[in-house]
Amino acid sequence: MSLKVYEIFKSLQGESSFQGLPCVFIRLAGCHLNCSWCDTAVVRTAPGIPMEISDIINRISVMGARVVEVTGGEPLLQDDSFALLSALNDYGFTVLLETSGACPLDKVDPRTHIVMDVKPPSSGEASSLCEENFARLDHLDEVKFPCASREDFDNAMIHLRRHEHRRWRPLFTPVTAHLEPSTLASWVLTEGPPDGRFQLQLHKVIGLP
Ligand code: SF4
Repeated sequence: MSLKVYEIFKSLQGESSFQGLPCVFIRLAGCHLNCSWCDTAVVRTAPGIPMEISDIINRISVMGARVVEVTGGEPLLQDDSFALLSALNDYGFTVLLETSGACPLDKVDPRTHIVMDVKPPSSGEASSLCEENFARLDHLDEVKFPCASREDFDNAMIHLRRHEHRRWRPLFTPVTAHLEPSTLASWVLTEGPPDGRFQLQLHKVIGLP
């Protein structure tokens, strides 16, 4: 089984409940969306380098991190991404999957920590969300709401009201080129859910990849 890999690197995990931990990132090539503020635009159309799952695991097993994130692009566009997630879990890694929410999650290994990135109106891709995915999320999982405007925050709150009995945790992240972090932080504090976690992208704050 092989995947088209754009890059593999170690950094600090910049987001999610695992923020600040050493993490190996497996960035798979390709994405079918075109978010207006995409920060990995070059990955969208890159062909990637074909790698066998066993070669990926051999490579990352000596990189000194227990947390591994499979990201993109949109990693679930590649059929073998599901086998990769299972193999990483079998090996004993704590496995995170960063996905746009535009692809069905039903084949994702349940041991995986899913971070579903809900595209807001300002991205131009809000309609890409596969709504059924919310039913697949459980207590291991998180939903990230990037916000570039008040409309984006309001849209996040609509999703949260629809899923009042959720087990997943919500994350709020400002798109800093468009929205002051302190503005979003104040909305989260005064209007957000009790378990809403505000986050800056830590790796970007300190200049890491
Ligand atoms: S889903 Fe991610 S990789 Fe794809 S266009 Fe949007 S931000 Fe870029």
